[in-house]
Amino acid sequence: MLKKNIEQFNKKLEKEKMEIREELEKHKKMPRFGSETTDPDQETDESEEYGNQLSVVQTYKERLADIDSALKKIKNGKYGVCEKCKKEISLKLLKIDPESRMCQECKKKA
Ligand SMILES: [Zn+2]
Repeated sequence: MLKKNIEQFNKKLEKEKMEIREELEKHKKMPRFGSETTDPDQETDESEEYGNQLSVVQTYKERLADIDSALKKIKNGKYGVCEKCKKEISLKLLKIDPESRMCQECKKKA
């Protein structure tokens, strides 16, 4: 891959990482749900809402881990290589999903 492209992806990944960190901070500051209500209907809604929050946070954390691993690969000069078949991941896919660990073919099979 061209150095120019790698620099672009590096920038994009760093930016994404910052954005996700900000999102995670926001979620941390959310008030706890269901602490001041006794209405059973409302409690159900709120615990559902809380469950959604948890899964959002989980998704962000997983993406953050993928981004970190992609940034590490850039440092090691191994960025853009599929973790499964070791072939190069296409630029087209990386542009959509710069933290991708696998090429399009392996993703289809996964
Ligand atoms: Zn592959």
